[in-house]
Amino acid sequence: MAEHGAIFGAMLQEFNVAARIINLEPGIWNILTHPKRQIIVSCPVQMDNGEIECFTGYRVQYNITLGPAKGGIRYHPDVSLDEVTALAAWMTWKCAVAHIPFGGAKGGIVCDPTRMSRRELEALTRRYVAEIVDAIGPEKDVPAPDVNTNDQIMAWVMDTYSMHVGHTATAVVTGKPIEMGGSLGRREATGRGVMIATREAARHLGLDVKSLTVAVQGFGNVGSVSADLLAKAGAKIVAVTDWKGGVYNAKGLDIPKLLEYAAAHEKTVDGFPGGEALSNDKLWGLDVDVLIPAALENQITMQNASQIKAKIITEGANGPTTPDAHKFLHDKGIFVIPDILANSGGVTTSYFEWVQDRYGYFWEEKDVNERLEKKMCEAFDAVLKTSLRYKVDMRVAAYIVAIQRVGTVTRMRGMYA
Ligand code: NAD
Repeated sequence: MAEHGAIFGAMLQEFNVAARIINLEPGIWNILTHPKRQIIVSCPVQMDNGEIECFTGYRVQYNITLGPAKGGIRYHPDVSLDEVTALAAWMTWKCAVAHIPFGGAKGGIVCDPTRMSRRELEALTRRYVAEIVDAIGPEKDVPAPDVNTNDQIMAWVMDTYSMHVGHTATAVVTGKPIEMGGSLGRREATGRGVMIATREAARHLGLDVKSLTVAVQGFGNVGSVSADLLAKAGAKIVAVTDWKGGVYNAKGLDIPKLLEYAAAHEKTVDGFPGGEALSNDKLWGLDVDVLIPAALENQITMQNASQIKAKIITEGANGPTTPDAHKFLHDKGIFVIPDILANSGGVTTSYFEWVQDRYGYFWEEKDVNERLEKKMCEAFDAVLKTSLRYKVDMRVAAYIVAIQRVGTVTRMRGMYA
């Protein structure tokens, strides 16, 4: 791209640091910093009041060197081509780090789903899929849920695609309901990966997971499962915050009770009686071994980085640490497990879902979890070894692993002209 926006620019900055360290040749550098395909579609929908609105949708297939493109679909008023392109690039690096045979993609529709009825959302989803139907498919590009999209929306994606191709194609999308080809263990997979990455980092630093104290920001899919599985592994979860408030207990929060409480209180931990109230601002300065940002991007900034006492930060969320804060934390000796490694358990299990759909044979949850454990440990190990070899932090190391994997296959495949 001759010109690019700020979010893609941030991705390029990270990429360039790693590419320079490994002396990436200019040709491969050039290919890997350009999106393969950017699709912009207009999706007219008849709204419940009878009026017709046109929504703009995007699908970006950033790189498909390693296999079909893979990445979620986001519904949000702030969706832009710049954001979708950067997210598609990050998916490319995440799939390469996870060592799964996928390229990277992302999709998005500029809309406010909180103001739309179920019928309007279904109509929008089906029209968007119809507009990009030639570009997606089990061998081409496999979408998944992202911000404001869920398993019901994936069910509509699967059905619309299947209607167009004339047969049921479960492997066109992941994150589907279990009843129609979803995978057991997918819901918990990202949090399970966060737990495994945290445990492996502790082991590397000579710490026992059973001695760890942990604070978690966000108690949604990623945060709640991370907290639950780390507690089950013996760690003490002392703090959890979310959009509404938070809770602290130096002796350790009772996570099963907190899960029950959040389920009964509109998904928030605010007001939980098993601890004292805690604000998001106070979370970062707590005297804990591990911090897990599992809510939004740009949460750890130069405003709060100096307060951080944790030894390990596991990035459950995508992009929770700003680049300057990341440099500050690394210089302070804090071990940051970057998002493209820490939260890759989700896409790894999406890969398992796609494999099961194509196979037509479904695994038991135990098998899914065992395979995830193996893949996460291998990914962590590859990034750690690279970080020690090049004497770089884990984020740069993850990029190096990704660039080397995609770069090697790009060279092998050669130029088609
Ligand atoms: P979710 O919607 O289930 O949960 C988000 C949580 O963050 C909620 O507890 C919410 O209260 C909290 N939150 C929202 N705004 C907040 C704020 N201002 N301050 C503090 N807390 C706030 O979302 P999720 O699926 O758990 O995703 C969380 C992050 O993990 C996102 O960055 C997402 O992109 C990333 N991620 C998710 C998956 C997955 O499989 N779900 C995979 C990879 C990455």
